[in-house]
Amino acid sequence: MDLRTTCFERAIFFSWYCAIGDCKYCYMSTQTKFNKERLARRTTESLLAEVILCKKLGWELGFVSGGQGAYKKVEFLELLKKIKQVYGKKIWLNVGPISKLELIKYKPYIKGVVASIETINPKIHELVCPSKPIKPFEKMLVQAKKLGLKRGMTIIIGLGETINDFKLLRDFIKKYGISKIHIYGLNPQKRTMFENAKPPALEYQAEWIKRARKAFPRMDIQCGIWLDRTKYVSTLLKAGANSISKFPAIKYFGSQQAKEIKKQARLANREFKGTLTKLPKVDWDKEVDKLKLDKELKEKIRRKLKTYLKKMK
Ligand code: SF4
Repeated sequence: MDLRTTCFERAIFFSWYCAIGDCKYCYMSTQTKFNKERLARRTTESLLAEVILCKKLGWELGFVSGGQGAYKKVEFLELLKKIKQVYGKKIWLNVGPISKLELIKYKPYIKGVVASIETINPKIHELVCPSKPIKPFEKMLVQAKKLGLKRGMTIIIGLGETINDFKLLRDFIKKYGISKIHIYGLNPQKRTMFENAKPPALEYQAEWIKRARKAFPRMDIQCGIWLDRTKYVSTLLKAGANSISKFPAIKYFGSQQAKEIKKQARLANREFKGTLTKLPKVDWDKEVDKLKLDKELKEKIRRKLKTYLKKMK
């Protein structure tokens, strides 16, 4: 892995609907209204406009994700096709455990699947993800390997685990041949059991990354920061993270916090690829024109893209 550079990775979320809805740390668990509304999801044009932004601003597309069950299967396949077409590359997918049959259907559009394990400590997992067991993800990872797909996973630091649990993580990564891990820090949400919890200390999140890097020198490690943790970046990069995520990059484009990330990358001796601070000169209309999509959708994407760019200027 090239540890001389770094970049921002954007996760694209397609819905506010989740059929599970009871993970104890999650904002969705506080949104009973959304959980009942199957249609609480973003429009195709806003998703595709965001994909164009990722491409042109040099943001990697971390994964495409959303609440489970927000789409009918056929509609979802259509969406994946369009995202791949606009992005020009296969994507990572993080939508819960996927069956073998679906993996086969998605395979032309995805490079790999992400298992949102969240915590590797089995007791804590049972408590914080009561309706999202690990077993179905393990099954998916096994199938994905057989189909030649890459395997990734997410964990959130600060849910009650300790660094002694790292060996469980190491064994899991080895067992399923995980090549990419997203190591987030808890973002305490109001009206959840973590409302009054403290986000993990910088040194603690860094220690997880450091151990992961030591055990897996070639693994792609992404660190999750939030708006309040931009000063964490240089330490997390020095610990061995490749890229940075969980920063609201559109809303805070060009902000002090975005500038801080760039500065932090410099402090860690990394060249920051792409931009969070300055819009490059791009003929956005041309970008939309060249898409092989129907005219009506292209017009909607154009309008949406302009709305995003206006916000970012
Ligand atoms: S499955 Fe994901 S989106 Fe749904 S409640 Fe759990 S963490 Fe939140």
